[in-house]
Amino acid sequence: MTKLDLKALITAVADKVAAHAEELTALDQAIGDGDHGLNMKRGFEAVRADADQIAAKPLPEALKAIGTKLVMTVGGASGPLFGTMFLALGKELPAELDRAGFATAFGKAIEAVAARGKSEVGQKTMLDVLYPVQATMAAGASGVEIVAAADAAAEKTVPMKASRGRASFLGDRSIDHMDPGARSVALLVRAVVETAG
Ligand code: ADP
Ligand code: MG
Ligand code: MG
Repeated sequence: MTKLDLKALITAVADKVAAHAEELTALDQAIGDGDHGLNMKRGFEAVRADADQIAAKPLPEALKAIGTKLVMTVGGASGPLFGTMFLALGKELPAELDRAGFATAFGKAIEAVAARGKSEVGQKTMLDVLYPVQATMAAGASGVEIVAAADAAAEKTVPMKASRGRASFLGDRSIDHMDPGARSVALLVRAVVETAG
């Protein structure tokens, strides 16, 4: 893996979230409280504001700084979960970073998210995109394949009935809508792949 341009990555992710904030909010209006786009935008704009400082750190420290910032600023149920993902990734990252090592660390970070959310795959949450993305990565797929897997996984949340988060309060009425957090993960994956390859 070539050295990451962390500032470019942060910028790309923040741009992607900003460009899709209204879409994320619309998804959350259908099965939640309609704040997911705003939550994500607030969080990633806060990360963007600190991009120079964050990018100057070694990667594990930078990921921890991003996680801490997200926990503090995103809010809602998703803030602590996205925050945990970056915090845990920073902790698990191997010193010798290659694709396989990254995939393993990412898998452990997803486990930390699941533990924090007391959730598992199939409950119509962000986990339903995180797990397939990790599996695709671990299988050595290309960036294009990883993005396709993320989009397909987000799409697969549409027919699911939510059993975690606010959407679970709707029972069967949560069916036929894409999960906002799942869509967010797909967008983050796309921004990272478009920038880092
Ligand atoms: P809130 O629901 O508190 O307003 P957001 O709207 O920002 O928070 O985020 C909602 C998203 O968070 C959901 O679409 C779902 O993907 C994710 N989510 C909520 N609860 C959980 C959980 N327990 N485990 C995993 N993901 C969750
Ligand atoms: Mg919400
Ligand atoms: Mg909320």
